[in-house]
Amino acid sequence: MTHLRALFTPKDPLEDAERAAMASLRRGGVSSVIWVVTERCNLRCVHCYEGGRELPKELGKEEALKVVDKLYEAGKPLTFISGGEPLLRDDIMEILGRLKDLGFRVILSTNGTLVTREVAKELSRIGVDNVAIPLYGPREFHDSFTRVPGSHDKVINSLKLLSDLGVGLTVKTVVAKSVMPHINYIFDVAEQYGARAVYLCDFIPIGRGAYLKHEVPTKDQWRSLLDSFIEKMILGNEYDGVEIDIGLHPSTAIYVMRRLEELGYDVSQARSKMERRRLSVEGRGFLSISPQGDVLLSNYLPIKLGNVLEDDLKEILENPIYRDAGDSSKLKGKCGSCPYKELCGGSRVKAFVYTGDLLGEDPTCVI
Ligand code: SF4
Repeated sequence: MTHLRALFTPKDPLEDAERAAMASLRRGGVSSVIWVVTERCNLRCVHCYEGGRELPKELGKEEALKVVDKLYEAGKPLTFISGGEPLLRDDIMEILGRLKDLGFRVILSTNGTLVTREVAKELSRIGVDNVAIPLYGPREFHDSFTRVPGSHDKVINSLKLLSDLGVGLTVKTVVAKSVMPHINYIFDVAEQYGARAVYLCDFIPIGRGAYLKHEVPTKDQWRSLLDSFIEKMILGNEYDGVEIDIGLHPSTAIYVMRRLEELGYDVSQARSKMERRRLSVEGRGFLSISPQGDVLLSNYLPIKLGNVLEDDLKEILENPIYRDAGDSSKLKGKCGSCPYKELCGGSRVKAFVYTGDLLGEDPTCVI
């Protein structure tokens, strides 16, 4: 979660979410949580990090509602409800309703195929703050990516239904080589439906995507993309009001900062924001919860820190793996000797995926 507009311009379309995360961090040490409420899904996206596994038994309704209570005690972190496809759970509206009744800021991540008019009305009534829906490109490309014909049109229909009801929206995508030519289209759609952000998650070849190593963008492709964001959206006003939210790639913000410095811009505000909160969130207030209630360092990594129903979250935050991941002085390789390690920290997920060492260097660094 690297918000380029908030860092480098006076605009911050996601400032409410950031405020909620920081307040929770101060209260209990947890800023944000991705809670994967189910791994079941009705799509078969080619890149999915969750594909190809046996699905163990998931928490039932009563247990899930207990998870909400535990998160409340932990300080009410910014909560992303994710999957799989969360709308496949019969009790999803009750879970979302309980979170909102307790005052959480809630982002629902859905593939958009199950958002009927009734579902959209219910999400609006409950007061879900933002619904994040994936889009990979125009109709033919998107449907080939999800491997489900008609899924593109359902995404567009969901965006329209939710936008008409005033529900906050994020359009999300994965930055894979074949998706990159469609990024303007994705921003166009986001702007058309009033989305607050486009979330661009770097592609990592794990899960079902393990066979797609050729889809990992090169560093130069990332740099070109960032150069175009700088020119058009940070120095220019294209897609004004839509945050550029980059996932799993913290060095992108360092790249933008250095380019702006070279161009003679003052980046001191961006630097002090990064000094307040390291871009790499693992071990720095972020946790993931699995459908079984396991607390993970990241939803991308099989690194279990405890169980939300069995363990005290405060004790989980003392877990040495969690503490080490958040300690920039423990980083190794290029990240260990990097002058930006306190601001960036490198993607701990990609360090683990590509090098097998959670504290190793982020081999995708673009600086
Ligand atoms: S070397 Fe590591 S800490 Fe430094 S900018 Fe690159 S990814 Fe970030």
